[in-house]
Amino acid sequence: MGPPGAGKGTQGELLARRLGIPRYSTGDILRQALREGTPMGLEAKRNMHAGELVPDDVILGIVGEALEHEDSEPGFLLDGFPRTVAQAEGLSRLLSDRGQQLDAIVDMSVPDEEIMKRLSTRGRKDDLLETIKRRLEVYGAKKQPLLDWYANSGVRIVSVMGVGDIDEIQAYILDCLSL
Ligand code: AMP
Repeated sequence: MGPPGAGKGTQGELLARRLGIPRYSTGDILRQALREGTPMGLEAKRNMHAGELVPDDVILGIVGEALEHEDSEPGFLLDGFPRTVAQAEGLSRLLSDRGQQLDAIVDMSVPDEEIMKRLSTRGRKDDLLETIKRRLEVYGAKKQPLLDWYANSGVRIVSVMGVGDIDEIQAYILDCLSL
């Protein structure tokens, strides 16, 4: 978990490589669908460009499909998902069907001013100033209910400040996860 520009992708990639498991980023999968012009990409486009969330059923469809890959059997890392309580509930159903459970959540925080600085130089289509602001608002509104839901369900939550050296942040995450 983390706001846009927190470094979820960077840290997630390092962690997944280290663990030898796949990383599924709903944002990356949606952007790919958008590039390919698939029906799902077209459906998601408007929400993505406006900085709004894509509907839960679309997202749960993506994740359900990803988890069917054979290489996700030993475990996997989810990047940018779940983002709502409904998605967390959907994930918990998907996992219990597979006899798996969530080991931990890595919750990355970065101050808003730092995010605005990072994203305004990144240049992706959804990195326009107004869109960034909206994405931050949406993230801010959904974050706490989601963390509360997971705290109630007893999942380990690791909180990380995503500012500073990439390798040091990764080392801290590994340490918190006892890896
Ligand atoms: P990201 O790269 O994770 O910030 O995702 C980019 C955009 O894709 C978001 O601003 C949303 O519009 C959409 N998106 C990605 N993941 C989700 C999700 N789990 N739930 C809803 N929308 C999502």
